[in-house]
Amino acid sequence: MRTEKEQTEDHRPRSGAGTTVSVLLSRGTTLGELVEAELDEPRDDEVVVRVEAVGICHTDLLARKRLGSRTAVLGHEGCGIVERLGPGAEGLSVGDRVVIAFASCGECAPCRSGFPGYCARSTVLNGSGRRQDGSPTLRVGGEPVFGSFFGQSSFATAVLARARSCVPVGDLPPEVAAPLGCGFLTGAGAVLNVLRPRPGQRLLVAGAGGVGAAAALAALSEGVEVVVAEPVEARRALLAAYGATAVASLDEPIPPVTHALDTTGRPEVIARALSLLRPRGALALVGLGPAELPLDVRSLTMRGLRLIGSVEGDAEPGVFIPELIRRHRDDLLPLDRLVTTYPLDAVERAVADQRAGLTLKAVLLPRA
Ligand SMILES: [Zn+2]
Ligand SMILES: [Zn+2]
Repeated sequence: MRTEKEQTEDHRPRSGAGTTVSVLLSRGTTLGELVEAELDEPRDDEVVVRVEAVGICHTDLLARKRLGSRTAVLGHEGCGIVERLGPGAEGLSVGDRVVIAFASCGECAPCRSGFPGYCARSTVLNGSGRRQDGSPTLRVGGEPVFGSFFGQSSFATAVLARARSCVPVGDLPPEVAAPLGCGFLTGAGAVLNVLRPRPGQRLLVAGAGGVGAAAALAALSEGVEVVVAEPVEARRALLAAYGATAVASLDEPIPPVTHALDTTGRPEVIARALSLLRPRGALALVGLGPAELPLDVRSLTMRGLRLIGSVEGDAEPGVFIPELIRRHRDDLLPLDRLVTTYPLDAVERAVADQRAGLTLKAVLLPRA
């Protein structure tokens, strides 16, 4: 066990050679073993953030699968304290607690119109493993490894992120703030930005993991009637306690709904959700499943249904995250009830618990 002072000193720059940090280096099917890595110096509008908490999102697991045998540092729901500023970093101060959202360029048409989730450079910035110019941000044993995941790679004690992706969260506890960077943003955004049900209307949420549960709570905070279909009993009980009607599956009797949200990506769930919509109803899709889906186009057309895809809740993080924090502070959005914390090196147990339904949203604490 190292002291706080030794840990702080880890993140001081060493002459010209970046900063030494601990990272979860993942390979194959494992999400990581703790190793020392060297974080590059902050360039331009980048900042160094000392990670206090980082959520585990389904996309981390999908990315691990996709990367095959490549070593990588994943993690994309980081929250922590700004420790150093690059020469062009604006709008942040050393000492600010920030949540780090996905990366976006800020210059393309979607970014300029307030929809950075559809950034033209999203694939490079979030999934290439490097900066936009191709330079690596993380090295292990002197060799570059896949980093900059979602502009962060926050399964680590410190990360480089662009200032425009960092949203100050004040004194919100880091384990509650971290999932606002992706999972909670996606779920709450799908309801408040995309579907926009009105009070008294009825929303069906298929799947109540971190995304679905945040969606359900956001809808309840608007006075919307919510039906949740979720196999895990504890998740049903949690959302029922806040006023949702909770069923184990879509095979149970469910009254017609005006809106639906699918977080599962499963074709049979999507088809069933569509069948439950009232005429002119809307279904939003946020789960990534098979690329293709059989669709009854005739029924869709004749009933005037809308089918809407959505990434990161169609949110502008700098605007939407403060709005979610305001609702949380006003006791409208009890997101803290969704979170269970684990030490950083307990990542495999956290994933297993999340899969088994023992944990709704697992958040790792690098300092625990
Ligand atoms: Zn862009
Ligand atoms: Zn995510």
